[in-house]
Amino acid sequence: MEEREVVVVGAGLAGCTAALFSARHGRSTLVVDAGLVPGGQMFNLARIEDFPGFPQGIAGYDLCPMLQEQAASAGAEFRPCTVEALAPTEAGWVVTGPDGPVEARVVIVATGSSPRRLGIPGEERLLGHGISHCASCDGPIYRERAVAVIGGGDSALLETLELVDHVASVTVFVRGSALRGQRTYAGRVEAAQNVTLVYDTVVEEILGEGAVTGVRTRNVATGETAEVEVAAVFPYIGSEPQTALVAPHVPLDPDGRAPTDAWMRTELPGLLVAGEARSDSAAQAVTVAGDGATAAVAADRYLGTGVWAPAERATSVPG
Ligand code: NAP
Repeated sequence: MEEREVVVVGAGLAGCTAALFSARHGRSTLVVDAGLVPGGQMFNLARIEDFPGFPQGIAGYDLCPMLQEQAASAGAEFRPCTVEALAPTEAGWVVTGPDGPVEARVVIVATGSSPRRLGIPGEERLLGHGISHCASCDGPIYRERAVAVIGGGDSALLETLELVDHVASVTVFVRGSALRGQRTYAGRVEAAQNVTLVYDTVVEEILGEGAVTGVRTRNVATGETAEVEVAAVFPYIGSEPQTALVAPHVPLDPDGRAPTDAWMRTELPGLLVAGEARSDSAAQAVTVAGDGATAAVAADRYLGTGVWAPAERATSVPG
């Protein structure tokens, strides 16, 4: 069977950083990822403003290929592969994909998260026909049109700021009575001429047959409903962790994330989870990268000493 010291599952920010550090520690490191582009969801961001060292910000599509290049230069091997199963062996873990199994003493699962679905009528039918999770990719299509954003967190605010330069107007539907993202983003969204913020409002249906024509909304305080004409809907209502691979082995937290200690170690020797798939992630680009580096250092120490002793998890910071 093919063997490595470390297999990293996922080539997002956490995975690429884990691979970089693992390879630099001299560990044979294979990164497997189903996608064709590195960096995961960050690849599509037009401007990442809060990654240290980039005072003018940097585009995800500029940063992400460099992450992979840096890890590959350090000696990590990247392979496009959809991992079908992860199973324990006597020596460690076996990762199985369409090209066959790979055995490793250590597996770092860095599978991240994917956009949470609204679960409302019209969503499934119109996904890709006016419903998009990528403002920088699809915003320019709706030049001179009115569009909607759903959500009040950092993703919704950042993507609204991306849309304002491309479209005629953006209506942001916020379920609560306040924005909850970074003040820096919120201030710019509030000041934008072509943005309308609609609070206490949920979208109950996305309208249109072949393409989005509008949304039906409900005010959660008054119960009042309305139909608003828009050509596209960009939902940013949080994310779902991609933890299907670890779920058979590790009891997940109520959000479906994998508990780890501060070194990204699960309770099972050789199995680490880094980035947004783990419990208590701050879910910021720099912390996710830090998770990857931490996991790789923990992996290197384990490979050197054979000792696996996860500490009790720290108490969560309330979200
Ligand atoms: P989030 O912070 O969880 O915010 C989700 C938003 O969607 C909240 O306003 C939430 O409302 C709303 N929401 C949830 N379910 C909804 C529903 N069914 N209908 C309508 N609204 C709904 O998610 P996120 O913005 O994707 O961010 C996720 C993490 O990534 C956060 O930690 C964030 O800081 C981080 N992030 C950081 C950046 C950055 O530039 N630093 C950029 C993007 C994301 P309630 O408040 O009512 O629950």
